[in-house]
Amino acid sequence: MNIILLGPPGTGKGTIAQFLQKEHGFQQLSTGDLLRKEAASGSELGKKAEPIMKSGALVSNALVAEIVASNIARLKGQNIVLDGFPRNMEQAQLLERILKEQKLSIDFAINVDSSRETIVRRLSARRQCQKCNKIYGENIPPKKANTCDVCNSPLMQRADDQPEVIAKRFNIYLESAEPLLAHYRKLGMLKSVDGNLSTEQVFKQVAKAIAK
Ligand code: AMP
Repeated sequence: MNIILLGPPGTGKGTIAQFLQKEHGFQQLSTGDLLRKEAASGSELGKKAEPIMKSGALVSNALVAEIVASNIARLKGQNIVLDGFPRNMEQAQLLERILKEQKLSIDFAINVDSSRETIVRRLSARRQCQKCNKIYGENIPPKKANTCDVCNSPLMQRADDQPEVIAKRFNIYLESAEPLLAHYRKLGMLKSVDGNLSTEQVFKQVAKAIAK
């Protein structure tokens, strides 16, 4: 089964993808995590992407599609959860082309909707492990302050989780969200969960959505 997670930044897509990976045998394909890894490694691709990501803007569709294509090929044969891609209609079309080439398809998209208020509060509290990418937040604190429970590495606050950048990312999301949601709705592939609820309640809704 291959699924897409849609929704604004900070709505919990990464946490849900990690839940699906841990509890339901999916492989998380997060374009944000992959781009951050490129940036940390200092690769040519990472050097290009890093300033754009810090500003809260989107990196080019072609560049992200290239990363997605190679990772889908790497994960072929496993259940994939796409987190952070597609973000606009051109990316949705690129994804359809990539999947067709690899004789794969998407089963459905889950829209995780949250209010602007929830998002600003959550992103300001969010911390992520620099090494294994595990996400911590207001409802999932680490056992030891600023240290990852899984691999003991230091946690970081993302440069793009600053208030002005959060506002910019949310506005960019709003510009492209509706056509993308309409696209998957029209295909009869859209399911929705309420991202304003507690993490546990959201996980329950997601588990129900994938069981149907
Ligand atoms: P995320 O972790 O999904 O919030 O992504 C962090 C940043 O990575 C975004 O603000 C963009 O700069 C970049 N990024 C991640 N996914 C995409 C995408 N599908 N298209 C363009 N840029 C992306």
